[in-house]
Amino acid sequence: MKIDHLGIAVESIEEALAFYRDALGLTLKHTETVADQGVNVAMLPIGESRVELLEPTGPDTPVGKFIAKRGPGIHHICIAVDDIHAKLAELKAAGVQLIDETPRPGAEGCLVAFVHPKGSKGVLIELSQKAGHGE
Ligand code: ZN
Repeated sequence: MKIDHLGIAVESIEEALAFYRDALGLTLKHTETVADQGVNVAMLPIGESRVELLEPTGPDTPVGKFIAKRGPGIHHICIAVDDIHAKLAELKAAGVQLIDETPRPGAEGCLVAFVHPKGSKGVLIELSQKAGHGE
C-alpha cells in the first residue's frame, strides 16, 4: 500500500493553483469532473504521491457541504490498494464502519470506496484501486 493522494477541498481550483502550481512549483497533470461526486478534480504529482484539489460543483455536494461546515483544507487521504474488494471485505470483517460497502467509479477510471471517519479516528480514508487491476 502507499498514499495515492491527499485530497484537499478548495473553493476554486484556479485560485488554489496560484499556490500549489505557481508558488510551490508542482505540475498540473490532470483535471476531470467526477459528476457522480459533484466535484472538479485537479491532480498534481508530488514524489510518488499526488495532491488532489477538490472543487465542488455546487453547495449541495459532499465537498460543498464539507467546505461550508469546516472551511477549505485536508478532506481525505487516499490509500492505493491492489484489490479493493478484498480490502473492503477485510475491513468489514474487522467491524470497521464503511461509507461505501461496494466500490464506485472515481477519477482516472479508478475504483474507489470511502471508510467512515469514525473507524479511522476522524480522518476520511479513500481506498483506490487503479484501473485495470483485478476486476
Ligand atoms: Zn481522492
